[in-house]
Amino acid sequence: MASQTGEIVQHSLDALLEDSSFLPDLKDQTRKQAFTSLAALLSTPNQIHKSFLRIALENGRVVRIPAFRVQHNNALGPYKGGIRFHESVNEEEVANLAALMTLKNALHEVPFGGGKGGVVMNPRDYSVKELHLICEKYVHYFSDVIGPDKDIPAPDVGTGDREMDWMMAEYKSIRPGMPYRGSFTGKSVVNGGSLGRRKATGKGVYFTLRYMLYDFLNEQKNWLRTVDNVFAKTALGYRNRPLTLSVQGFGNVGSIAALEAFECKHLNNKVVAVSDRNVTLYHEDGLDIPALIQYTSKNQGDLPVDEKQLSEANVKAQILDREQVLYLDVDVLVLAALEDQIHQDNVDKIKANVIVEGANAPVTGEADKYLSDRGVIIVPDILANAGGVIVSYFEWLQGRETQFYTEEEVNKLLLKKMKGTMDTILPQFFGDPFPLRQNCYIHAVMKLSTILYRQGKLY
Ligand code: NAD
Repeated sequence: MASQTGEIVQHSLDALLEDSSFLPDLKDQTRKQAFTSLAALLSTPNQIHKSFLRIALENGRVVRIPAFRVQHNNALGPYKGGIRFHESVNEEEVANLAALMTLKNALHEVPFGGGKGGVVMNPRDYSVKELHLICEKYVHYFSDVIGPDKDIPAPDVGTGDREMDWMMAEYKSIRPGMPYRGSFTGKSVVNGGSLGRRKATGKGVYFTLRYMLYDFLNEQKNWLRTVDNVFAKTALGYRNRPLTLSVQGFGNVGSIAALEAFECKHLNNKVVAVSDRNVTLYHEDGLDIPALIQYTSKNQGDLPVDEKQLSEANVKAQILDREQVLYLDVDVLVLAALEDQIHQDNVDKIKANVIVEGANAPVTGEADKYLSDRGVIIVPDILANAGGVIVSYFEWLQGRETQFYTEEEVNKLLLKKMKGTMDTILPQFFGDPFPLRQNCYIHAVMKLSTILYRQGKLY
């Protein structure tokens, strides 16, 4: 487990060890022993599977591509987590992302454990035929450890519904006659995917922000005024005024979070900047997000990078360097690209007072501490970006029942689940001195500990 996740899990365990109302049957030495056993369980994955996928390229060359599947913990249900195709994938990163999935599912009470997969490659370097082969080989090599009741992969960076369809088809042919629809989620709708899945993470990211800064705040404003908490003061400052947002990453998560903000009718949000792997686009009056989405859908996901492309997109914007999105003077910064984007060397340039983690682990441990000490509200990944796994769970259920919900039904269920989590977490957050990430971890660790204790796993 990466140091930040491991450290916060350990702090959560330390706080719970001292709280005698939590697992009150555990006392004295037995209690200490159980918590040591918990720390060991949560800080290490159950299994790390590694293979080298043997691929014959179209030019006749044969390559061996490193691939991983990490299964962190399955106390709550089958392992669940995306498969990433990216050149920076490595074992430690996949293991850390798998641990985050365990915590995320526990926090939102989704009956899955935590897993993650990765293939060390840049998908842009391969033809469609080669990508298809890579997907088939991934399933082939890991077919013994994945499956609808064992470990259910989904898309992540560099993969999408096309890859999940290919993978499910391979799983089906390896296991003829066995249930297969629930083996992968994030599939296309014609192949048993759920309506609403593609937009679920971005939708959830924006909903988390909106609920926290408006809906919950408006309901609780009288109570909040009585609370002497630095984060409550920051949040109250946003109650009656428009918000400016910048969004790093304009893929599946970032573009939809930006669109939700753009389309939100009853609030005056302005998305003044978006960015991707090439560029930041900025306009002080707000960007035309639907036009940018239309442009990226026709240009391999990339935003316009020069005046000619901006005019093709019919969008007015200033073109800035890719990193500039992080340093703009805005209220809210949504991070929806990759991990470790805000770190020790750039944290002092951050001006936003609220940071929402659409990506997994985009703020390093040192930067998180620095910003939290400054009173910046950081809405952590395990709270904000769970929309994808929540709707993946609905997809898995629909596949089992072979009954499919409408998009409206899916969205309603998604927001109800995320609201339920926030109604538990936010009063604690605004009422005590811990940052939001710590609150979320404590809640997730409590859930996991209780289940592991009742399953007789703590000794
Ligand atoms: P994606 O591949 O669709 O989009 C990634 C975006 O980030 C692209 O716009 C890309 O150009 C941009 N990008 C890449 N490198 C960048 C850089 N150095 N600086 C700025 N932008 C950069 O991926 P996604 O599915 O949107 O996932 C984004 C993040 O959200 C990842 O961390 C992923 O793990 C996390 N996440 C995704 C989901 C999901 O359902 N897709 C769910 C939970 C978490």
